Amino acid sequence: MLNLLLKPWIASCHETRDRISDYLDGELEGRNLARVRRHLSRCHRCRAMLESLSRMLEQLRSLGSSEQVAPASATVSAVVARIQRDER
Ligand SMILES: [Zn+2]
Repeated sequence: MLNLLLKPWIASCHETRDRISDYLDGELEGRNLARVRRHLSRCHRCRAMLESLSRMLEQLRSLGSSEQVAPASATVSAVVARIQRDER
């Protein structure tokens, strides 16, 4: 119930995970960005996921900088999908 009331203001864990690749790519804007940020500020699990994801991305990008690899957004999506699968 509380989640329903808060929904316009704060993204759910599920939504945050769905949007996290866009967030990392800087593609979230306005209201969606604000909602994900609010969620991240109060959910330590999603924050931990964001931190490990961005660390992984840095490593992938430093590895990939010398050669052509898959687009970063596809890589983020693949990593997020793997994390979501692991948590079920
Ligand atoms: Zn969360």
